[in-house]
Amino acid sequence: MKKVVIIGAGPAGLAAAYEFYVQKKLKDHKILIFETDSQVGGISKTLLYKGFRFDLGGHRFYTKFPEIHTFYRDFLGGDMYKRKRLSRIYYEKKFFDYPLSAGNALTNLGFLRSTEIAWSWLKRQFSRHEEERTFDKWISNRFGDKLFRIFFKSYTEKVWGIPTDRLSADWAAQRIQNFDLPKAVVNALFKVNPGSKTIISSFYYPKYGPGMLYEKIRALLKKEGVEFHLGHEVVGFKKLKNAISAVIVKKKKSGRLFQVNGVDHVISTMPLNKLISYLAPPPFLKKEIEKLRFRSFLTVGLIVKSNPFPDQWIYVHDPTVDVGRIQNFKNWSPYMVERKKKCTSIGMEYFCDKGDTLWELSDLALVQKAQQELIQIGLAGKKDFVDGFVYRVDDAYPVYNFGYRKPLKKSKEFVSRIKNLGVCGRGGMYRYNNQDHSILTGFYAVRNYLSRDPKWDVWKINEDGAYLEEK
Ligand SMILES: Cc1cc2nc3c(=O)[nH]c(=O)nc-3n(C[C@H](O)[C@H](O)[C@H](O)COP(=O)(O)OP(=O)(O)OC[C@H]3O[C@@H](n4cnc5c(N)ncnc54)[C@H](O)[C@@H]3O)c2cc1C
Repeated sequence: MKKVVIIGAGPAGLAAAYEFYVQKKLKDHKILIFETDSQVGGISKTLLYKGFRFDLGGHRFYTKFPEIHTFYRDFLGGDMYKRKRLSRIYYEKKFFDYPLSAGNALTNLGFLRSTEIAWSWLKRQFSRHEEERTFDKWISNRFGDKLFRIFFKSYTEKVWGIPTDRLSADWAAQRIQNFDLPKAVVNALFKVNPGSKTIISSFYYPKYGPGMLYEKIRALLKKEGVEFHLGHEVVGFKKLKNAISAVIVKKKKSGRLFQVNGVDHVISTMPLNKLISYLAPPPFLKKEIEKLRFRSFLTVGLIVKSNPFPDQWIYVHDPTVDVGRIQNFKNWSPYMVERKKKCTSIGMEYFCDKGDTLWELSDLALVQKAQQELIQIGLAGKKDFVDGFVYRVDDAYPVYNFGYRKPLKKSKEFVSRIKNLGVCGRGGMYRYNNQDHSILTGFYAVRNYLSRDPKWDVWKINEDGAYLEEK
């Protein structure tokens, strides 16, 4: 039996283990999955609190890969519901339809401001930024300076926690590719997107949230003999020449360390920079990986009476509150809530850095803050709150800060030289992957290990990042 260690039981790690099953390789491979958390699913897990379900952030199931769609279908069958998207943007005490609609945008912005936006765009067309490697310049060239300041700056800085002139344009290019102000206007007027793909107007969602998928995969694999070690964090490695010979694991509850020896292969989905720091990198790389940083995130789950708004989620661009996005899970699936109680589960999402003021606030203070902000936005009254809790997510977003490419390239080169190591997933590849990308990288990592065929190169997945999910 060959011994394979998989680090992380998120979508990528589970997909990797599943691929061993699909390829009928479980009879000659002993698979051990180590997962820090007590639950599988990674960032795509669903939390259950007092009969109400919460995603860490609402997770749409949308994919361009037929293979992944089939995978979803195989596991979820009739429990995968098609949902029509309803989301809006909250800004300056107003709700903007999103995707924008002309009448609503014009009413909310007013004629004067709309004219200023158009004028500012026109001026920028005559003096475009020649190089547009940062987010602010990339957006200004396409939408004008005024609209950049109104709509893009505050939200983007909330998400990433750095000024937009230090954020790489890659992120904008991935998410808003092939779109500009004239196209936005045509789209708002006629509901068509000339020259670019449409915003995803419908998506699938599992009956009990995304966690349902990952629990099902876990149940199948467990039955097939895959070993799940939840509450176990990988904290180091032993290397022999250019290969990993042992994996060092910490039992979270007791803090006890132990070593898994005789490892034939390792598939890692843990954050790439952390992985490298455990692999005795040369001094120059040690410095380089400090430039790869992750943005963290916390969600305040609130149980709220009745159902205060019809959207699945609302983007909060308004800078007077810290919340970045508000989810209403009853509108994702009615099965997310305890039905007898006539309440809904609301997720208040805050982007932060581990250890910053927001992150360090007590749970009670965060619940109170979230309640107060929901009241300020006008979506709930004081008497509507039933209960609340907080969930913090470290390493949620790989930050495409200006200059992340070189350390990433060096990191890729370093890990590829370790003979029995494969990386995959979002943090594992430091790539802004969605679930489907992560799952596919998990499949590829195993196919590559089994066949050594370079066509299963994980780095080819989501390479262009042209996902066009958000505009
Ligand atoms: C707010 C938000 C909203 C999102 N919305 C969508 C959406 O609508 N649709 C969509 O498709 N995708 C969405 N995503 C992306 C999706 O969550 C990720 O793409 C997916 O979860 C990545 O899977 P992964 O396995 O690569 O990584 P993760 O989900 O991060 O899983 C990695 C796992 O590794 C574990 N781990 C890390 N270090 C160690 C260690 N040292 N030892 C042991 N275990 C370790 C972690 O605990 C984690 O469970 C969203 C993400 C966020 C943050």
